[in-house]
Amino acid sequence: MKSILDGRPALKIEIDKVAEVAGYLWQKGWAERNGGNITVNISEYVDDEIKSLPAISEVKQIGVTLPNLRGCYFYCKGTGKRMRDLARWPMENGSVIRILDDCASYVIIADNPVLPTSELPSHLSLHDYLIGSGTDYKASLHTHPIELVAMSHSPRFLNAKEITRVLWSMIPETLAFAPLALGIVPYEMPSSVKLADATLEQVKNNYDCVLWEKHGVVAVGPDIMQAFDVVDVLNKSANIYMCAKNMGFEPEGMTDEAMKEIQDVFCLPKVRPIKK
Ligand SMILES: [Zn+2]
Repeated sequence: MKSILDGRPALKIEIDKVAEVAGYLWQKGWAERNGGNITVNISEYVDDEIKSLPAISEVKQIGVTLPNLRGCYFYCKGTGKRMRDLARWPMENGSVIRILDDCASYVIIADNPVLPTSELPSHLSLHDYLIGSGTDYKASLHTHPIELVAMSHSPRFLNAKEITRVLWSMIPETLAFAPLALGIVPYEMPSSVKLADATLEQVKNNYDCVLWEKHGVVAVGPDIMQAFDVVDVLNKSANIYMCAKNMGFEPEGMTDEAMKEIQDVFCLPKVRPIKK
């Protein structure tokens, strides 16, 4: 069967990255059953032939109007699909959608009429904000990283400053590679408007990763690999914290001075970079 990826190596590389990340999510135990979702803005890879492709679905309403998304194209994981299947067959477990000119509806254009994730409105709201704020962030990821979710069961860690300080202090690389960590959203019903709005607020506050109490994380990044990396380094720190606790002690953590030195020497950003 002909695929939208045929003869488009740059687009194929982006979709291959999604498949690779989906495999990691499954291997790490962060994506049980159909857990988690991924959307990637692929508009920069869209040529005239793709623009003229007919819809293979009826017009579907997003539920919100997102003015920055007019004419944008997204790869979306399919609703009810498994990450472990997407890892092998990305175009059978996800689809490409076109946002229509009303900025409030979309159609599926390739390769199969796989209905996008039920979290589409909240993902697209994040993309709308990221475009509007002038960043070149293209990817949004939701997953269930075990150690971070475990920490979110403690009231002590439902404080963005406190959990960020503890995670940064476990290993220097976490501070270096997740310098815009970690926002907190108190428990809300999955798929609810309240959860989506609270997540968007945290992304607006320059957090690249947001921890949902007793549920999972949402991460955004320039591409899906970098969104995954942020979650991976933060969860590594959470794992080190728990290993120390399992050995029977509260880990000391790097000092505030040591962390400040890394921030200064590496000129770590405090806000999301804006496209030049
Ligand atoms: Zn979830």
